[in-house]
Formats: sequence, C-alpha cells, structure tokens
Amino acid sequence: MIAIPQSILDGLAAHALRELPNEACGLLAGSGSAVSAHYPMVNVDRSPEHFSLDPSEHFRVLREARSHGWQIVASYHSHPQSPARPSEEDVRLAYDPDITYIILSLQERENPDVKAFSIRDGKVEPVEIVSDKP
Ligand SMILES: [Zn+2]
Repeated sequence: MIAIPQSILDGLAAHALRELPNEACGLLAGSGSAVSAHYPMVNVDRSPEHFSLDPSEHFRVLREARSHGWQIVASYHSHPQSPARPSEEDVRLAYDPDITYIILSLQERENPDVKAFSIRDGKVEPVEIVSDKP
C-alpha cells in the first residue's frame, strides 16, 4: 500500500499531460508508505518511450527531501501511449527494490490511469494506492 494525497495524484496527472508527447518522470518523498512531497523532474531523454533522470537534479532532490527528514518513497513516469504497467525496460531499470514504481497511462487523455508496483529481482507486484479523497 502507498498513501498519496489527492492533490499530489492530481499534480502527477498535470505533469504527465504537460510533458506530452514525451514521458514525464519524477520522485515522491515521504515517510514509510506515506507520500508528502512531489518532485516533478526533467526527462533528459525527451522521448515518448523512454525516460532518464538528470543525475544532478536527482542528487538535488535527494538532498532537499532529506532536509525535511523524508526518504524517496516512489519513482513515477508516464506512458503516453501504452497501459499503466511496467515495460520490460522499466523492470530491467528498476534500481531500488525498496521504493514503489508508479506509472500513469495517458491512453485516455481525460482519464489518466495511475497504478503502483513493487519491482524486486525482476518480479512485478501490484501495490494498492490509497488517497485521501472522501
Ligand atoms: Zn515505462
């Protein structure tokens, strides 16, 4: 389970739409499984099918999150044309077994589909997303 405030879920969708036609990416920070902060980041690949974080921005975000006493809880990116599940490349590049991987699909522009996964040793398991929406 990962707890994400509705305002941050809305922010993820807005970022994903803003970056079209390319993939959007970023990190979510917080404590345990509770997300407190959203860091939209630059996709240095500028591609509709790939994303890479900028190493210096990544470092800056880690430091900024740590200054609030947060850890990185999740990494997210968008799939402009494909479903909200990790691609083979996403599984291969999942670098941290302890964070949650979030994918937003924009196949339906009006209704972004957001799903969360854990990826450990190449094994993908769904993770439930809980928001504070009444
Ligand atoms: Zn992907």
